[in-house]
Amino acid sequence: MVKNVPNIDLIETTILDIPTIRGHVLSMATMRTQTAVLVEIRFSDGSVGIGEGTTIGGLSYGAESPESIRSAIDTYIGPALLGREGDDVNGAIQLVDKLVKGNRIAKTAVEIALWDGLGKRLGVPVAQLFGGAVHDRLPVAWTLASGNSETDILEAQEMIETRRHNVFKLKIGKQSVREDVAHVARIKQTVGDAARVRVDVNQAWSLDEARWGLKGLQDAGCELVEQPVQARFQRAMAELTSQYEIAVMADESLNGPEDALSVAASNAADVFAIKVAQSGGLKRASEVIAIGQAAGLGLYGGTMLETGLGTAAALQLFSTVETLHWGTELFGPLLLTGEILAEPITYRDFCVELPAGNGIGATLDPDKIAFFRRDGGRTMKTVVGG
Ligand SMILES: [Mg+2]
Repeated sequence: MVKNVPNIDLIETTILDIPTIRGHVLSMATMRTQTAVLVEIRFSDGSVGIGEGTTIGGLSYGAESPESIRSAIDTYIGPALLGREGDDVNGAIQLVDKLVKGNRIAKTAVEIALWDGLGKRLGVPVAQLFGGAVHDRLPVAWTLASGNSETDILEAQEMIETRRHNVFKLKIGKQSVREDVAHVARIKQTVGDAARVRVDVNQAWSLDEARWGLKGLQDAGCELVEQPVQARFQRAMAELTSQYEIAVMADESLNGPEDALSVAASNAADVFAIKVAQSGGLKRASEVIAIGQAAGLGLYGGTMLETGLGTAAALQLFSTVETLHWGTELFGPLLLTGEILAEPITYRDFCVELPAGNGIGATLDPDKIAFFRRDGGRTMKTVVGG
């Protein structure tokens, strides 16, 4: 019997620039546009898989930029995979890991497209390929990062009233510790018991600042602090984890399963922020999750502020996890002025819902892709049409 397995025929990348609904003020950058790298893989049987690789704030968050993600795929990852069997996702992951160091977000974009193609050919959601979803909806936090306490308070109140979010992550680390703690205390005081408040410092504090900061934050009723110090300061993270009641979450410290093992073994966090892109794909993220679970740590479904596409992919994996103790922050599509999916992800009753459909459960809206593409999609379309 001849096995008829489709091959990988074409891997295409597109950069999208989508304006955000407001300035998103982080300790290291203010975002007014989010840039996503889309990957489309065409297989020899006509099936197609789509994926996304996205980072935050150009090169200010991590070592990969949208442009480097695209070039890593176009120059190295794509050519290595052309002609291979499309169903062999693990083989592709292993080959790319041998040929390409780092570049986890670029690997992620391609890997998601491979899973999507496989799921569509088999007629199952990607969650099924990870053993099946055990949740059809997950709690979803919102990030307050307008850069202004008054605006943040109004935004929080509206989110609570409309039952969209009742967990808020405040982006701090740009002002002094004293000003930041006062900002957090004001917001927590205003929302009271109606909402939970957490913060993300994005590595901005020294250990000295973090000691004062964590003390002030826990007194203000803040329940969790994310990446208070630099990712490489594992001993400082361990001290903060053991010295304060407030939960300490590792985010930038976690780049794949090797980091996860190191952070867990050093007791350098109470909680793992699981990010598909930072882990190097759905498979590697599932390994980070397994290490966190084995270490008895709290788990949280993180985001790189992906569009609906990357968000759908993350939901396929997170929906298979027994317990995400701290819920998720998969609100990326809500921060963008444009929706690129034909069927947007559903948010209601403080939760995000696992999309229906095979593969990652996302279908692109071609007009929106043409509109937001960086390389002049609108002009190209006019030329082709005329
Ligand atoms: Mg973070």
